[in-house]
Amino acid sequence: MAKKTTPMMEQYQKVKDQYPDAFLFYRLGDFYELFNDDAIKGAQLLELTLTTRNHSAKNPIPMCGVPHRAVNSYIDVLIDKGYKVAICEQMEDPKKAKGMVKRAVTRLITPGTQMDLNGDQAKNNNYLAGIIRQNGHYYLAYTDLSTGELKTTDFASEDETINELINLQSREVVLDDSVEDDFKQQLTKRNILQSHQPEIVNEAEVSYLTQDLTDEGQQTVVSLLVSYLLTTQKRSLAHLQKAISYRPSSFMKIDHYSKTNLELMTNMRSGKRQGTLAWLLDETKTAMGSRLLKRWLDRPLIDLKQISARQDKVQELLEHYFERNNIQQELIKVYDLERLAGRVAYGSVNGRDLIQLKTSLLQVPKIKYTLETLDAPAFADLEKQLDPLSDVASLIEKSIVEDPPISVTDGGVIKDGYDQQLDEYRDAMNNGKQWIADLQKHEREVTGINNLKIGYNHVFGYYIEVTKVNLNKIPRDRYERKQTLVNAERFSTPELKEKEALILGAQEKSTALEYDVFVKIREKVKGQIKRLQSLAQALSELDVLQSFAVVSEDYHFVRPQMNTGHVLKTKDGRHPVVEKFMGHQEYVPNDVLMDESTDILLITGPNMSGKSTYMRQLALTAVMAQMGCFVPAEQAELPIFDQIFTRIGAADDLISGESTFMVEMMEANNALMHATDRSLILFDEIGRGTATYDGMALAQAIIEYIHEHLRAKTLFSTHYHELTALETTLSRLKNVHVGATEKNGELVFLHKVSAGPADKSYGIHVARLAGMPETLLKRADKILSSLERKDVKLPTISDSAEQQPETGKVKEKTTHSASQPPLVDPNGQLELFGSPTPKAKDPAAAKIIKQLKNLNLMGMTPMDVMNQIYQWQQKLK
Ligand code: ADP
Repeated sequence: MAKKTTPMMEQYQKVKDQYPDAFLFYRLGDFYELFNDDAIKGAQLLELTLTTRNHSAKNPIPMCGVPHRAVNSYIDVLIDKGYKVAICEQMEDPKKAKGMVKRAVTRLITPGTQMDLNGDQAKNNNYLAGIIRQNGHYYLAYTDLSTGELKTTDFASEDETINELINLQSREVVLDDSVEDDFKQQLTKRNILQSHQPEIVNEAEVSYLTQDLTDEGQQTVVSLLVSYLLTTQKRSLAHLQKAISYRPSSFMKIDHYSKTNLELMTNMRSGKRQGTLAWLLDETKTAMGSRLLKRWLDRPLIDLKQISARQDKVQELLEHYFERNNIQQELIKVYDLERLAGRVAYGSVNGRDLIQLKTSLLQVPKIKYTLETLDAPAFADLEKQLDPLSDVASLIEKSIVEDPPISVTDGGVIKDGYDQQLDEYRDAMNNGKQWIADLQKHEREVTGINNLKIGYNHVFGYYIEVTKVNLNKIPRDRYERKQTLVNAERFSTPELKEKEALILGAQEKSTALEYDVFVKIREKVKGQIKRLQSLAQALSELDVLQSFAVVSEDYHFVRPQMNTGHVLKTKDGRHPVVEKFMGHQEYVPNDVLMDESTDILLITGPNMSGKSTYMRQLALTAVMAQMGCFVPAEQAELPIFDQIFTRIGAADDLISGESTFMVEMMEANNALMHATDRSLILFDEIGRGTATYDGMALAQAIIEYIHEHLRAKTLFSTHYHELTALETTLSRLKNVHVGATEKNGELVFLHKVSAGPADKSYGIHVARLAGMPETLLKRADKILSSLERKDVKLPTISDSAEQQPETGKVKEKTTHSASQPPLVDPNGQLELFGSPTPKAKDPAAAKIIKQLKNLNLMGMTPMDVMNQIYQWQQKLK
């Protein structure tokens, strides 16, 4: 269908073709207009009125628009919904343009490159990631365009890569053709926008930023990411910092399941910050401090020296209340220097931003002074990094007025006395009236015409008006006639003409010159960006450290003693968040005591008694300690953990759609595959999601596996009472239980963890608390007593060791020698109670018993065990 298009729509279409996946905001006068499909969809998303451009035509063009002054809020809405927006500006003054006004896209805004973040968003980093595949590795780079941070690393597996992306909370990933569809699907599933960057652009800028990288894959992925930024932003990226390569293994690793479970940054129920560790620890005074705190929380340290260095500083600040208070008071006046630096580089700062910058810089000498009075060696480095940039502060002081307007193009930004030419223009403007009045007085005197006056109108400009009766008195040589009225004549003089040009041009020239002067100042500040960024980093660090000192004081945290061995002792430890909600008085503190030769605590106790709180509190304590913060306990001695694995609660992985039990097994497997003797494992009621016997079998096998193969510090809570017998066979396992007591037939939780196994299962009492019918409960009591008369015997690890001597790792301590492997009765039922004679009439069952006997449990993963049990079940059906 041949459509007649106007030249403007032709121009529009040409631009739009280059940005098919973005909303094109096309500048028309005071509006940005959207056309065609963009308009239809945009009107809906932005709640705008949909109109048409040429209603009378056969095929009117759908159109909607937003006023240019309000454009940012509309852009934000689209970006938040995961779309891209291309801004197409008029590149020349429409009044002066010959023919079509030239237009071009000046910026492509995408979720990962959004710069103007407000409110709560200011406290978060907005990371754009890049990923490529090379030599079987995933190379990842990420940047926050608003702060200039640029980092890179690589991973051997897809899982680790996705895990890191989730940690970074990236909303957008830049890819090239090397990335497979399977990976892309993972991104789609997690609502991460994919952007394609086919090639590297601007070699010079890219090679500067990748200068310090030695790995070729890392260089490539950073180049790709930077190329995407250059392509979309179309402006200076002077604030991007040279890419730094990092190894996730240089930090404590916590996978995203565990981060979610432990509620480090997001509350599981509300999805908000409240109720998280980040929320509790964040007493920072600046947005950049708040962001750094999250980065530290995301990557706790594993180097003893680094941890101690942070703790030393926290201790100093904790012990010096007044100095800390001074520092806080100064930090409150410090603005977001990281993002200000970004805006300076971008050329998007205004006068107010520069005043904010100056105000911030003026605090630095005071902070430095306070740190000096502390006179602590711990702060020597940080103090050195605190460069007050006095050159920049005094430049702004000299040049920018104290309360400048938002706009940088309408004047009123530059101080008097800063630029001579500008002063002259202003002089002309401000003193123009006075000059005119003086001239009138002077002309009256020299001519003797007392009613001579000087006036102004738009058409003729300034004039000297003389009534007709006085015309004979005017100096003919100087006065030139401009206009004749009924009773008067109007004149000009060369002097008046000159002044007129000056006065009339002054306003326009002054605003134009002011803008030029402002841009020059901005460029000067831009030259100091690296220093500004380094200062921002030092201030953020100080902010986080003072925040740690504040919370440590408020919540009575203590400095943990870190060791490189395996001793873990916390006395009167607390879960800091639960305690905050509940109140210090209400919370029952608990010890975790694990010496060099204790690896596993098996925790028993009724539901709701506090088992998972006990486990979480240890994980949070470890994380806090390795961030450099003090910990919620009376005393703490902690090993440095390389990783934390958790399987707590029954949070279904809704995204992947896996069943609870499958997720449970996958998470457990992840721990078993990757934990080392330096790791911390928290398993809460593993095996609960399946039938009793295979659940219990799995739980025991997992405990044995950890005990024999991993030696990771492990807290394992279970409702399988039978497992407490493992203490007699596994030398590095200890039983603890959470106490509860009965009062008037009701259960009272004590929340106190003590040595030894829980003496009884409290399930029925909990059911009573829940209000189940009394007849049902009585029946349950009866069944329980009949079951308790039977003796449950589990196979011990020594049984499997006897059968599988090749595993080599046989326990020193063995009892329960009378125990036998479970049986299968003639009906095909697995029998744990009763006669220990391993006989079966059913040939299928007999075969299974044989296989079971020969099973090398120690050589199997829990998944293998599960699969094996499943196969047996199928055979017995
Ligand atoms: P479990 O894992 O044994 O089912 P939880 O750890 O979920 O139990 O704890 C249940 C509730 O008990 C928590 O929500 C909390 O309110 C309370 N609780 C847990 N530990 C303590 C404690 N040490 N002091 C006081 N209350 C506690």
